[in-house]
Amino acid sequence: MKRREEPHEREALAALAVLYAELGERLAGSTCPASTECCRFGVTGREPYVTSVELAYLERGIARSGGKTPQATGKGARPLPVVTVKDERICPLLRADNRCAAYDFRPFGCRTFFCERAESPRPLGQQEINAFVRRVKDIAARHRPGGDQGRPLTRALPTG
Ligand code: SF4
Repeated sequence: MKRREEPHEREALAALAVLYAELGERLAGSTCPASTECCRFGVTGREPYVTSVELAYLERGIARSGGKTPQATGKGARPLPVVTVKDERICPLLRADNRCAAYDFRPFGCRTFFCERAESPRPLGQQEINAFVRRVKDIAARHRPGGDQGRPLTRALPTG
C-alpha cells in the first residue's frame, strides 16, 4: 500500500524540487560525455552522500520505475570493458543501457557536473556548491530529525 506523505514531508520534498530546478537553471547548457563513470564509484573514488530528503525524493523515482533498482532486478549495468579498476562499484540505479533509472529524481551530488570532462558555460564554484549543500541540509533537517546527516548512496538505498 502506498505510504501517505505527512505535510512536513510534502513541504520538504517540494522545497527540494524547487532547489533542484534552481540548480538545473544555474547549470543550463552543461554537457558531459555520458561515460557513466560518475555512476561507478570505484572508478571516480567518490560516491554521493544523500540526506533523508534526497533519499525520499529518489525513492519516488524508484517507485515510478517499478519499485526496485535495476541491480535488484538483474537489469543493472555491467562493468565497462575499458575500465581497469577491480571493483567499479556500479550504482544500483544504473541500468544496463547505461542510463539512470531515476534520473529526474537523482540526488544533489549527481546533478553537479563534477566530472573533469563535463563542460559548463558557468561551472559552479566551491562557495556556490557549499551554499546549495547547506540549503539541502536545512531542508533535510526539517524533513526528519538528523536527516541532514548524509549517508553513502549505496548504504542508504533500500536493498531488493
Ligand atoms: S543515482 Fe543515477 S545519476 Fe546518480 S550515480 Fe546512481 S545511476 Fe548515476
